[in-house]
Amino acid sequence: MSLATNRRDAFPGSLVDEADDVEAPLAGGVDLSRIERAIREVLCAVGEDPDREGLRETPRRVARMYAELFSGLREDPRTHLRKFFTEKYDEIVLVRDISFESVCEHHLMPFMGKAHLGYLPNGRVVGLSKLARVVEGVARRPQVQERMTETIADLVMEELQPKGVAVVVEAVHTCMTVRGVRKPGSVCVTSAMKGAFRNNPSTRAEIMTLIYGDRR
Ligand SMILES: [Zn+2]
Repeated sequence: MSLATNRRDAFPGSLVDEADDVEAPLAGGVDLSRIERAIREVLCAVGEDPDREGLRETPRRVARMYAELFSGLREDPRTHLRKFFTEKYDEIVLVRDISFESVCEHHLMPFMGKAHLGYLPNGRVVGLSKLARVVEGVARRPQVQERMTETIADLVMEELQPKGVAVVVEAVHTCMTVRGVRKPGSVCVTSAMKGAFRNNPSTRAEIMTLIYGDRR
């Protein structure tokens, strides 16, 4: 399953996927020309010439890039979970290695990695791709990894009302690898455990084995 495909499905006809040369002052509610003016200012502020050949189209490209990276601001990830169906299955459902890209809200630098999302159904089950879409919808906005992890767990808990939810997120933060402390290779891991995954040690151990078991 490819997240790129999901993205197109999630935003049918959105300008985010249009060719670079399409005029679009507003892409899905994003004021592109305002971003363009700001990026031009940034280039001037660092001593660059925004009119030189290589930079002439840069403000436009950056504006479109932000529209794409922040597209989650204009969707409600909850809607993916409302298409549940009733099923007796009451064992753990886990989608492992859901890749995502997000933007750290402190530096506006990308952080990216994998999310593992599991739940213990209590009658309500959703299509597995819907779980990946929830991750993507929550990721595509200015974020911090801790809140992203909690938000995903809360959404699944509220909408599916399962016996438990487990979310583990592993990410590389470019604001840590290419600037600041510059620690390439460092991975930040966060987790949110709800219900049985929080209260029952054996259920928690089971999901951790499912997530990491054969990779340790
Ligand atoms: Zn940061």
